[in-house]
Formats: sequence, C-alpha cells, structure tokens
Amino acid sequence: MAKKKLNASLDKIGLVIVGTGASLFYYYLEESMAQNQSLGSFITIAIILLISMFTQLLINNINRSREALRVSNETLEQKVIERTKELHESEVLYRTIFENSGAATIIIQEDMTISLANSVFVNMSGFGKGEIEFKKSFVDFLDEKSNRAILNDEGFLIIGENLESRFINKEREEKDLLITITTIPGTENHVASLTDISELKEAERQISHQAFHDTLTNLPNRALFMEHLKMAIKRGKRRPNYHFAVLYMDIDRFKLVNDSLGHSVGDNLLNAFAERLRVSLRDIDILARLGGDEFVILIEDIENEDYASIVAERLQQALKQPFMVNNKEVFAPASFGVVPNTQDYNLPEDIMRDADAAMYHAKEKGRAQYKIFDKKLHEKARHLLQRETDLRKAIHRDEFVNHYQPIVSLKTRSLVGFESLIRWNHPQLGLIYPDSFISIAEDTGLIIPITRLLLQEACTDLKSWQDQIQDLQNLTMNINISSKHFLLPSLLDDIKDILNVTGLPPDHLKLEITETALMEDVEETVRHVNRLRDYGLQIVIDDFGTGYSSLSYLQRLPIDTLKVDRSFVSRIQNTPDGNRNIVEAIISLAHRLDMSVVAEGVETVEQHAILLNMNCQFGQGYLFSKPIPKQEVDVLIQEMLEFSQKNPGQSYPLAEALSN
Ligand code: C2E
Ligand code: MG
Ligand code: MG
Repeated sequence: MAKKKLNASLDKIGLVIVGTGASLFYYYLEESMAQNQSLGSFITIAIILLISMFTQLLINNINRSREALRVSNETLEQKVIERTKELHESEVLYRTIFENSGAATIIIQEDMTISLANSVFVNMSGFGKGEIEFKKSFVDFLDEKSNRAILNDEGFLIIGENLESRFINKEREEKDLLITITTIPGTENHVASLTDISELKEAERQISHQAFHDTLTNLPNRALFMEHLKMAIKRGKRRPNYHFAVLYMDIDRFKLVNDSLGHSVGDNLLNAFAERLRVSLRDIDILARLGGDEFVILIEDIENEDYASIVAERLQQALKQPFMVNNKEVFAPASFGVVPNTQDYNLPEDIMRDADAAMYHAKEKGRAQYKIFDKKLHEKARHLLQRETDLRKAIHRDEFVNHYQPIVSLKTRSLVGFESLIRWNHPQLGLIYPDSFISIAEDTGLIIPITRLLLQEACTDLKSWQDQIQDLQNLTMNINISSKHFLLPSLLDDIKDILNVTGLPPDHLKLEITETALMEDVEETVRHVNRLRDYGLQIVIDDFGTGYSSLSYLQRLPIDTLKVDRSFVSRIQNTPDGNRNIVEAIISLAHRLDMSVVAEGVETVEQHAILLNMNCQFGQGYLFSKPIPKQEVDVLIQEMLEFSQKNPGQSYPLAEALSN
C-alpha cells in the first residue's frame, strides 16, 4: 500500500514537472514572440522542455522497475511461506518418526550431551525428558566397559552399527543394548538408536550357562572346569611361583543311597553334598560336578603342595557329619584323589586322569580316604587306564549283572542257596565272564564299587525269593570277595549298609574268599574274620586245595564252610585211588572242625554218588544247574512254589538227570 502510494505521488510529481516545463516553454515562447527576442532564448526554453520530458521518462522507468520489484517480492514472499510450511511439515514428520520409532533414539552433541531424546529413551532411562535433554551426557547411561567400546581414544563417539553395550537407568538397573550411531550430515551431532536386547541376552546367557553348568547342582560342569584348568596351567607356565592343585572326589556308596532311598533323595543328597563342599572352600576355588557322584575342585594360588592335603583333610572332616535329606539322616563320605603338584602338566586331561587314578587308589584303601598322586601311580595309571576306563563306563552304564548258581543239598537235591557270579553284559562283545576282567578290576580298585553293586543286587534278589516261599526262608547267598577287598574295614560297613537297606539278615550272607586272602597276616586275618562273624556273616573258603594253605593252618581260622575245588571233583571218579582219598580227607577234617563242605563243579551222577558216599553235604555244578540270570531263577522259584503246593512237605529236587 505504502509503495503504491509512493508510486502514485511520484507519477504526480512527474506530471507537475512536465506540466511546469510545458507551461514555462509556452510562457517563454509567447514572451519572446512578443518582445521579439532572439533564437537563444528560444533554445533555452526548448532545452528546459527537453529536460522536463526526460525527467518524465526517467520517472516512468523508475515506476516500472518498482512495479517489477514489487511483483517479484510478492512471488518471493509466497515462496518463503510455502517453503516454511513444507519445512514445518517435514519437521513434524521427522519428529513423529523420531518419537514413534520402536527404538530409543537420541541426538547427541559433540560433547556427548543429549540434546533430544524420544519417549522410548525417556521411559527406558527412568528420568524425565527435562532431566535428560541438554542436562545428561550419553556416557552417564552406559557402564564403563560400554563407554570404552563406543568412544575412541580421543573420547569421540565411534560411528558404527550394532555396538553391544550395558545401559544403566536411574534405578541402577542394567539392560543390554544394541547401539547404532550415525552422524547427522553437515553437523557435529549424532543420532544414536538403542535397541533393548536384554531378553535375547538373557536367553543367550541361559544357554551358555546350561552348556557350562550342571543342571542339578548349578555348579560348573566338566567343560567349564576344564577351561579353568587350562587357564591355571597357562598361568603356572607364566608365573613360576604360582601353584594350584586338583582334588577329585567320588561319594562312597552313592549308588546304594540312590537305589535304596530313591532318586529324589539321591538328588537332594548331591545338592547338600555340593553345598557342604562349597562352604568349606574359598570363594576363588572352583568346585565342579563331573556327573553322577563325582566332583572336582581346583585350588588356585596356593603357597605349597601341603595345602592340598590340608584342604582334603578339612573336607573329609566336614563330610563326617550326616546330611538331613528328606527327613532322613544320610552319611556321604567320599574318597579323594589329590594332584598337589601340577607344574609338570601341559594338558588338563592329564591332571584329571591322575587325580582320578589317585581317587581310585583312595577307594582301594577303604572309605573316606584320600590319596596323593605320585609318579608310581602314574606308571600304573598309564597301563591300566584304558581297561579301567572301560570298566568304569560299565559300572556307570550298569552293565554288570549277577548270575546265580544253585547250591543244593546232595542228599535231597533241594536248593539251599545260591552263589552269585558276576557277568559283564558288554554292549558290543556280549556276555563276558569274570576271568577276563576281575583281575583288572582288582588292580584298579574298581572291584570295590563293583562288589558293592553286586552285593546290593544279590541281597535284594535273595530277599525277594525268600519272601515268595515260606520254605525258602533259609536260603543263603554266597558272594565272592576279592582277597584285597576282604581285608578292608570298609567291607563290613558296606555290607551292614546293604543288609540294613535290603532287610536280609546277616546269617543268610556267605562271603567266599580264597585261601590266599587268608595267608598274609594270620593274627590280623583271624581278628578280621571274627569281626565279620560276630556280625552274623558266614565265611566260606573257595577253591580249597588250589592254594598253599595247609590243613593244619585251617584249624586256626574260624571258618564256616569249605568249598572243594572243581579240579578235585572232576578227577574223583577217574582216579579212584589218590584223588578220592584227598577229597575224603578234606571232608572229614572239615567236619571235625565243624565246617560244612560244598563240592564245586559236580557234573555227573557218579560224582554226586561218590560225594554223597563221602558224607559231603552240599554240591554245586552243571549237574544241578548252570549259573542262571535272575529271570530264570524267578521261573525256578515259581516251579518250586507250584511243586510244594502239589506235594506238601516234599522238597523240590533240582537235578532232572537224577529224578528219573
Ligand atoms: P568260583 O567262585 O570258584 O566260581 C565257580 C566257577 O565255576 C564259576 O565260573 C562257575 O560258572 C563255574 N562252574 C560252576 N559249576 C561248574 C561245573 O559244573 N563245571 C564247570 N566246568 N564249571 C562250573 P565263573 O562264573 O566263570 O567264575 C569264575 C571265577 O570268577 C569264580 O570262581 C570267582 O573266583 C570269580 N568270580 C565270579 N564272580 C565274582 C564276583 O562277583 N566277585 C569276585 N571277586 N570274583 C568273582
Ligand atoms: Mg566262588
Ligand atoms: Mg570256586
């Protein structure tokens, strides 16, 4: 409006100038005509006219330019309005995107101050928007490690995608984040988008925890333990005065607890056992469960080798107290193998092997013992390792079974008891007989856990047969006990446990030992045998005649039964002279000493007749029955039951060959 007014007034001025020019021209023309003045005056007047016309022209031009300027100004103004509107719309759009993007998003200034934070970020942080924007630095929200990961050496943000970080909110709660940082072009600012991956990370942590921990006790498992051991070996190589030791342990008689009290008691016991070990150790010691009832401990940074033995003793002491599991008092002593000097080792597996070997030697010594590994054990361990491993696997896989061979009264041919004979049900090789593995089991000490299993099985089976038929109440069970095992005090403890659990009275159990087992220290042997007999067990000498014991030596031992070796019985009819006399002498001596006699390996009717004639009371052999698995004994017992129902008062004769 003002411009228009200005233009209009300028136009008016132009008209006044031109008008004035024209009027002056006309005035001077008339004046000069009237006064008859010269041409000079006329020219002056003409020039004035020209100037006024030119001025008019100039004014017109200025006016046109002004108009053009006005129009272009208006266009420009229009454009500015449109652009501003567009800019506003785009800002709204970007703000909406910024605000509503699923990820927490912030704008970070060069000095790390957060200048803008969307609501996801605000919610995640626990702070108010006003407390964050221009007040907080991005580094305030990350833990130290994450800060190191997202800042370079000069303290500038690292531009990158998916940087993993730990986020800490106002309540000091931590979250796992994936951060992507980009620079805003043409500025010193950055946009950071933060995605919460806590759940994912938690799942990841659980998976890796499961891979490295035992689910029952939550202790590290073998894999994790081996990693720790590997690191300890490395540290030992770097620092010569760094010592560590390994303790390998196995709960004595754990299978008995499991079988007799049930798996839930077994599991609870394992947990309680682990806990008791844990509280007896330092925080830095690593306790792991290898599986079953096997645990292992890594004791690091110890001053000398003796420390491992001190720990072993302390733990043994701690395990002397009973555990209360499912309202039952349960004892869980353990055998320990200790490798106290680990400096020469390069492989964790080697340390484990030797600790394991030492542990088995501890078991050999009896219950709740520990054994320090030494070089002698190493040699032995190396040779026996493979066989031992096979046997150990067989124990864990429950591949050993009892077969039972009936022992009969020669007079009536009726069943008086069984001898339990071990078989190895090998998954590839089939049934393996004791001659091929008993000596290895003895050398490795594995015979002790194996015997425990067999004893448990045999006593349970015998009890179930006794319970089925009233007439069979007196049935007995003979168990072969290795000579090394026999003299261990733990044998009686094991037997007591098993009899308590199975409910079989002690006088139904007979321990078969060979003469060699009794030869070593007569006094000690007599005391030991007496302890077993005082408890009610019966002692049988197996394979009599094949050892070195003299008949006179026999007189000094409190023995219940004597088993005449098969080699004598097999020759009893072929060489009537010599052999027959020997057998006869043995039988009569045994009777004089108040021992009963069992003839082994009775295969023929003739042998049976001769033995009966010699007053031998009992026999065992293929003539009556081969050793048979439990299922076949079950059938036999069933037949006996039916027989006794049909023939009350009569006993079931065992040899078919004789009954016809
Ligand atoms: P053993 O205790 O003298 O057992 C008798 C062996 O003679 C058994 O062999 C049995 O199958 C066999 N036999 C029985 N009657 C006859 C027969 O009429 N004729 C013949 N030819 N053989 C007969 P098996 O089962 O192979 O056992 C061999 C040895 O292994 C046993 O001799 C015993 O010393 C040992 N053994 C078996 N089971 C165990 C066990 O659980 N623990 C220990 N420590 N040793 C065991
Ligand atoms: Mg035997
Ligand atoms: Mg024998």
